[in-house]
Amino acid sequence: MQQIGHWIDGKHVAGTSGRTADVMNPATGEVQAQVALASKAELDAAVASAAKAQRAWGATNPQRRARVMMELVRLLNRDMDKLAEAISREHGKTFPDAKGDVQRGLEVIEFCIGAPHLLKGEFTDSAGPGIDMYSMRQPLGVVAGITPFNFPAMIPLWKMGPALAAGNAMILKPSERDPSCPMMLAELCQEAGLPDGILQVINGDKEAVDAILDNEVVQAVGFVGSTPIAQYIYSRATANGKRSQCFGGAKNHMIIMPDADLDQAADALVGAGYGAAGERCMAISVAVPVGDETADRLIEKLVPRIEALKVGPYTAGNDVDFGPVVTAAAKANILRLVETGLAQGAKLVVDGRDFSLQGYENGYFVGAHLFDHVTPDMDIYKTEIFGPVLSTVRAKSYEEAIGLAMDHEYGNGTAIFTRDGDTARDFANRINIGMVGINVPIPVPLAYHTFGGWKKSGFGDLNQHGPDAFRFYTRTKTITARWPSGIKEGAAFNFKAMD
Ligand code: NAD
Repeated sequence: MQQIGHWIDGKHVAGTSGRTADVMNPATGEVQAQVALASKAELDAAVASAAKAQRAWGATNPQRRARVMMELVRLLNRDMDKLAEAISREHGKTFPDAKGDVQRGLEVIEFCIGAPHLLKGEFTDSAGPGIDMYSMRQPLGVVAGITPFNFPAMIPLWKMGPALAAGNAMILKPSERDPSCPMMLAELCQEAGLPDGILQVINGDKEAVDAILDNEVVQAVGFVGSTPIAQYIYSRATANGKRSQCFGGAKNHMIIMPDADLDQAADALVGAGYGAAGERCMAISVAVPVGDETADRLIEKLVPRIEALKVGPYTAGNDVDFGPVVTAAAKANILRLVETGLAQGAKLVVDGRDFSLQGYENGYFVGAHLFDHVTPDMDIYKTEIFGPVLSTVRAKSYEEAIGLAMDHEYGNGTAIFTRDGDTARDFANRINIGMVGINVPIPVPLAYHTFGGWKKSGFGDLNQHGPDAFRFYTRTKTITARWPSGIKEGAAFNFKAMD
């Protein structure tokens, strides 16, 4: 059985805690590896050596750090297929989707090549008599990234790129469900020229996470995962004086106006609702057609598209639209919620409950489901299902539709499909959600903009990637300087203007 340990000081290191977790193949339900779960002592030792290594890295000029990012981009492109294969094997997503996972991470590393520009400070000449004032952005020291199972390349790269390019050392605690890809990323960072100790990958569960949150050397914690854990990490990290940004779950609504092109809207819903088996924080899980006529026509277009979806293992290649969900527990939870939806009165228009795949009976495959006549009081509307289940909530008017999205506790992403510019503009301006698509179902911002949800989808002040990430991973210092020739007076006891 393959044993996955930790990546510490530039080497693979076996775990010493005596605790491990099984890494499953979601397509077959077989254990394919065991991953070490770090103890507090292992975590603390990794932080201590990261802190030592960080001093020289933080003092390295930003151009040299940017060159490491440049080389990392080349290596990620070189190893794209290998990385994607590791993702598909442990996560279950299709091979092209796994390549997309690497690609969207790689784009943030490309952005990080601009670190010298992004880290430039500000300067005011002659802020007072003989006085110059300047501010600089300095790295925080050792920072941590705690990441979810659903994007094992993209989100670790979103965390490590800006943190490392800004001169920090990072403790990455990836998901224990698919740990191989993050370990490969660490090897690539070393090959790209990152000094040993600057990126430590510590595998583990709550024990390792709590050790990060309580370690006094760790200055900042960036988290992505479910909302209850995001809230927990945010409150414990900030109570311990750390800077923290924690991104949580989602329930993304797509509003379909009567004037929308319904074929386009149906295609968009199928891709955004069922791609990656619905295991995306930007998946559309609620369709809100406006008016019964729009709803009836939309459902008519959706049903054959959903029934034609091909579910299977990534090894089946391009013949597959989505793969299994990540664990047996996730599958059981999705099917339980489907039953709850039925019991609470929603109409199951496409029923995937009996889905089974010959030869893969032990895999965690879930067929596609479509609910109609879902209402806001139902559990399937309130809960993030994180599976191939799309709920339709019929709204009588645009106001009712936008109100639904605004009243929901999550605020990650949303979309509106319409041909009307006024409606689209009003929606974009009024909606209290972080990422908005206009005729775009999954509006994930590109690397040079920032990514982040509102309400219970995001805790903390700054977003991921883009310029915000460089702000998050640096602190500003402002210097006021006057040289002896500029000093015209003796001791001053009062605050006064500098003129
Ligand atoms: P999760 O919250 O179970 O796990 C995320 C991380 O937290 C993992 O590294 C895990 O080991 C750790 N963790 C789990 N339980 C913990 C505990 N009790 N104490 C401390 N640490 C703990 O999330 P997941 O199932 O891996 O990922 C899916 C979730 O992530 C979904 O809710 C999805 O919406 C969300 N997500 C959000 C975004 C975003 O940007 N908002 C992006 C991707 C995924």
